Amino acid sequence: MPTRSYDTIIIGAGIAGAATAYYLNKLGQKVLVFDKSGVASGGSGAAGAFVSPKIGVSSPLKDLTDDAFAFAYSFYAEHFPDHYHATGIVRIPKNSNDASKIPYYSRFHKAKNEIFNPEQLSKLHVNSLFESTLFNEAGACDTVALCEALLDGIDLKLLDVKKIEFIDDKWQVEGYETANLVLTTGYENNLFDMKYMGIKGTWGNRADFRSNLPLGITLHEGLSISANMGGIIKLGATHELEVKEPKPCDESKAMELKDSASRLIDTSDFELVKTYCGMRSGSRDFAPVVGKVIDTASMLNYPNILNGRKYQPIYIQNLFILNGLGARGFVLAPYLANELASHIVKQSEIDNRVNPDRLFWNWIRKMKY
Ligand SMILES: Cc1cc2nc3c(=O)[nH]c(=O)nc-3n(C[C@H](O)[C@H](O)[C@H](O)COP(=O)(O)OP(=O)(O)OC[C@H]3O[C@@H](n4cnc5c(N)ncnc54)[C@H](O)[C@@H]3O)c2cc1C
Repeated sequence: MPTRSYDTIIIGAGIAGAATAYYLNKLGQKVLVFDKSGVASGGSGAAGAFVSPKIGVSSPLKDLTDDAFAFAYSFYAEHFPDHYHATGIVRIPKNSNDASKIPYYSRFHKAKNEIFNPEQLSKLHVNSLFESTLFNEAGACDTVALCEALLDGIDLKLLDVKKIEFIDDKWQVEGYETANLVLTTGYENNLFDMKYMGIKGTWGNRADFRSNLPLGITLHEGLSISANMGGIIKLGATHELEVKEPKPCDESKAMELKDSASRLIDTSDFELVKTYCGMRSGSRDFAPVVGKVIDTASMLNYPNILNGRKYQPIYIQNLFILNGLGARGFVLAPYLANELASHIVKQSEIDNRVNPDRLFWNWIRKMKY
């Protein structure tokens, strides 16, 4: 028999789970969070956790990222100023072709920004031939400390959840029961059949280096180079598509990042302090998935579904997901967690840009052929 009962249980204490727990708690819910290895022990703990807007022409994903960036900046600055470093991030073009697009892309920027020329960059200890865009409010989070602060006052159990069951209108999870269940398990999705969302992981390494370089701003040009924060400069990150399962972090990748950074800054006194690694999770179409989970087995019972006929989705009762945050978990999570918490508590609509239903119909279309 369950010993304790909750309004919502969340599985996964990365930035997605921690932010969701924070907002549900603010809405008065009793919340329990499980993680098998600790707070921010998955992709979230590996992240450089840089928070910046997306550059490019307007698209659903860019607009979502920009909305989320504005939200995240205010959220961190107001509620967690100790764990957010608003260093500003300068986006440096990789080549003259990229540089030529700056005036065109600038009309799509929503975040506060200004142009820095090579002389100004040089005074900041940055070598670049190109005019670059500084986003003043961008910065970086302290990963574990931020997730811990979000979870402050919320029940947390360190346990590998092996089984979830829905019995008599309640979810049963390792001896606990709950009305609502939220899966924020990152790239691991073995608790439920969510193949239609196509969640998978992209491996990456990043590293912290000790340095006296007085770098006062964060840079991004293919890789990210943080401002010098207390003698530490963070470099990130690699994208290693060939790695399918987690493995030990790779110091040689850290040194490759240092070599790349030396294009832009003086890395001659860099001393490797620590290499971090982990999986980023992405959905089939690289946009986040937030909301209800479709009951694929029941849907496939519809006789004409594979012939292109559309039906009202049948959802798994009170099961929710927040996943597919890709390489921008610390940008997207506060905004999307707020949306999911309102959906669970106040039944507000989920934004079509992130509603996982879109992936179900694509998946069905592919099954047909
Ligand atoms: C090298 C690297 C650099 C990155 N840099 C940035 C960056 O600069 N900016 C940025 O915004 N994002 C960055 N990211 C991406 C960011 O880390 C992810 O978007 C974010 O971590 C996703 O968070 P999450 O909570 O969805 O998943 P995770 O952080 O992976 O959390 C999932 C959690 O679920 C737990 N879990 C899974 N299954 C179970 C189970 N059955 N029972 C109990 N617990 C379970 C895991 O232990 C894990 O802690 C980076 C990622 C990597 C790998």
